[in-house]
Amino acid sequence: MTLKINIENLNWEKTKGYIPGIIQHYVSGEILMHGYLNRESLKKTIKEKKVTFYSRTKNRLWTKGENSKNYLIVKNISSDCDQDTILIVVKPYGNTCHLNKPSCFSKKIENFSFLFYLEKIINKKKTNQKKSYTSKLLKLGIQKIAQKVGEEAVETILSSMTKEKNDLINETSDLIYHLLVLLNFKKIQFKEIIHNLQTRNAKKN
Ligand code: AMP
Ligand code: ZN
Ligand code: ZN
Ligand code: ZN
Repeated sequence: MTLKINIENLNWEKTKGYIPGIIQHYVSGEILMHGYLNRESLKKTIKEKKVTFYSRTKNRLWTKGENSKNYLIVKNISSDCDQDTILIVVKPYGNTCHLNKPSCFSKKIENFSFLFYLEKIINKKKTNQKKSYTSKLLKLGIQKIAQKVGEEAVETILSSMTKEKNDLINETSDLIYHLLVLLNFKKIQFKEIIHNLQTRNAKKN
């Protein structure tokens, strides 16, 4: 993999040697954290493919995960329009926030990436001791799960024929949820669906 970044093109003068780095999840697109990088830490990050910041609190290079082992593995690095900020796309090991949250900004999970959390929640329910609707459904097997998806699809279709917007929203939510359960049962990750859709879109453009 070649990184689309040239260290010397970055505006080190404007940023006084510390360029802000935005850390983004490579699949969900969620923003995980933010930190500063100097030349040395950026070089190390590129060389070792693990995000290393310059910590102004610690006054030294700080490889995220050096204690916790929750490293950020670099997938891509790019700069913004005026070269004073970089976007680092990563595959995180474990939780990124030291408060044991996936993201330092995960007080509220925004929009689309919520589906990835839902996927994780469903997967947890599979092994959970507590008997939830989902854990029972997963134990019942593919026939029952597929039947539920079918039912929710029909309910979605029927509610689209009426004027009740809320019904359609509810039934679509049921359908998406059960599709995620079905995918989980079939050991297909949601990101495989996203990649497939992306490939189709790329072919058209
Ligand atoms: P780590 O780099 O994950 O081994 O954590 C080392 C130390 O860095 C922790 O004890 C925290 O003080 C700090 N730290 C870790 N992760 C973050 C984060 N996402 N934001 C701010 N500080 C952090
Ligand atoms: Zn900028
Ligand atoms: Zn944090
Ligand atoms: Zn329904």
